[in-house]
Amino acid sequence: MIVKSFPRNGMGSNCYVVLDDSQRHAVVVDPSFSYDRVVALLGFTPDFQGILLTHGHADHMLSLKNWRESTGASVMIGRADAYALDDPEASCASLLGLGNRRFGEPDVRLSDGEEIAVGSERLRVISTPGHTSGSLCYYCTGHLLSGDTLFASGGIGRSDLFGGDESALHASVARLMKLPRDTVVYPGHGPETTIGNEICFHRYFH
Ligand SMILES: [Zn+2]
Repeated sequence: MIVKSFPRNGMGSNCYVVLDDSQRHAVVVDPSFSYDRVVALLGFTPDFQGILLTHGHADHMLSLKNWRESTGASVMIGRADAYALDDPEASCASLLGLGNRRFGEPDVRLSDGEEIAVGSERLRVISTPGHTSGSLCYYCTGHLLSGDTLFASGGIGRSDLFGGDESALHASVARLMKLPRDTVVYPGHGPETTIGNEICFHRYFH
């Protein structure tokens, strides 16, 4: 698998494209950048097989409708966050200055351990509640898309927003620390890191 980063939209969130090794098939994760902009920066147009959300916060899905219209791909989100797309309080839309903006209905409600096809390869869903109740990470060997659960340099997500749970977040981070140390972590905000870099910050969760 290959991960391409599209960092820091106007609200500071990162968008990622995960490609299979042939680069013919892909999914987008947290579509905060428009489809046209991402394709222009990629320089080619893969077959997008899914629009994946790490959680239901508005700053991670600013271009969700645009991606849905442009690709026709299914929108996938954690089961417990599915309602947030149509709930401006749960999505923090109003908090982020987006008023009553709504994002429609997801097509697929994901649970822990499910696998998402990217060509002939697979991304695995890891349920990581705490930042929101339905927060997910997406994993394949060597890569972890960590949403707002885990950030670089010891950062973890806020747990004081709608649906947040501090002890659940700590348990989720502890679970991620069991992944191989050379796994590259692609957070929802800020720079990339690795599990090996982060493990020293999170020993107290063990
Ligand atoms: Zn968030």
